[in-house]
Amino acid sequence: MLTIFKFGGASVKDAQGVKNLAEIVRSHPGNMVVVVSAMGKTTNALEQLLAKYIAGDDKVWDDLATIKERHLAIADELFQPDTSNAIAEVDALFSNLKDYLRRQPRKGYNFNYDQIVSYGELISTKIISSYLNAAGICNTWVDIRNVLLTDANFREGNIDFKKSEELSSKQFQFNGKSIYVTQGFIGGTADGHTTTLGREGSDYTAALLANLLDAQSVTIWKDVEGVLNADPRVFPDAIKLHEVSFKEAIELAYCGAQIIHPKTIKPLQNKQIPLYVKSFANPVATGTKVYQTEERIGYPPIRIVKTNQVLISLTPRDFSFVIEDCLSRIFAVLYSNRVKANLVQSSAISFSLCVDNEDHFLPGAIRELNSSFEVKYNKGLELLTVRHYSQDVIERMLVDKKVFLQQKTRSTLRAVYQS
Ligand code: ASP
Ligand code: MG
Repeated sequence: MLTIFKFGGASVKDAQGVKNLAEIVRSHPGNMVVVVSAMGKTTNALEQLLAKYIAGDDKVWDDLATIKERHLAIADELFQPDTSNAIAEVDALFSNLKDYLRRQPRKGYNFNYDQIVSYGELISTKIISSYLNAAGICNTWVDIRNVLLTDANFREGNIDFKKSEELSSKQFQFNGKSIYVTQGFIGGTADGHTTTLGREGSDYTAALLANLLDAQSVTIWKDVEGVLNADPRVFPDAIKLHEVSFKEAIELAYCGAQIIHPKTIKPLQNKQIPLYVKSFANPVATGTKVYQTEERIGYPPIRIVKTNQVLISLTPRDFSFVIEDCLSRIFAVLYSNRVKANLVQSSAISFSLCVDNEDHFLPGAIRELNSSFEVKYNKGLELLTVRHYSQDVIERMLVDKKVFLQQKTRSTLRAVYQS
């Protein structure tokens, strides 16, 4: 029996979290692959360090020192005394990163992003694998960059399934009881460069490995008790859903529910592998089961709010209709600039789309669209999705809100409004 466990940044943000991870792993029998994200907010910190590196700002060294201190403090607490050489190995990873930062940036932003930001996962897994071994939980650290092969689409690598399947069956042999510890979120190109799979991509890694290795199940350990019908930090009345179909889960993830990365469901659905979302603070609680079911599950209204949205409206400068050829040109620009439309709506001579307000890819897309369209936008908006809505919930959610756009099907309401 093979299970895949995925631990996110919040679950391994400090030494106590790592100890808790060890107890969870220890109490589960059978073969296991443990997929881990970067500790706490390390990925954000590395993104900031990267910006300074690209800008040639000397403060990059302060950032590096802060990130290193944080990790060494955790390692110091875990390895007393350090008989396993763990701290020296973590130190060596920081030295590699330092060497990289000493060189001038070559290639583009996306390339450098992946070479640098991936250290978060390399370092966290090194600490965790060493700690498990020191705690008597024998395991092997795997560099997933040699297993999950991607193309060179830096920051959003596309997996080569065939090669990754061959490599993963070679790497993960499972002789007797085996535990492997490896990185979420990262992969590698055939010529040895690091890639990443998109922010919050560790869930996707867990699902990919489950698919490639024919696992029995995947468990994502979170700081909430399972999949809830709203974000409990915003809506204190949120309740846990006991079970969710793959179909519902993929809709929720697509609409911006942060509980599961949108790409996670497909590899699991394709092989009918159930996903459990459970609380790392309360590992014996049942959590949520996400799986293939033909039964109708009765869902309560599920609310998802995506903040920091921009509503862009495009009007062709030559007054031509926004129909097939025009739409295909708009989508080609979005695709080539990696801008994802969270919601779209069109009329005779206007096209509206709601997107994340993001300053790396969006400005390029707007510049390109500007040549054929008059572009207007409203910033600082929220995109609300209510699945399985009731009139009462809609009224409560939209009261006193200035609504710019609304769409309704039998199961789903979506609205863009000023928050
Ligand atoms: N550490 C990465 C991120 O924060 C990947 C993940 O957490 O899943 O985006
Ligand atoms: Mg994370």
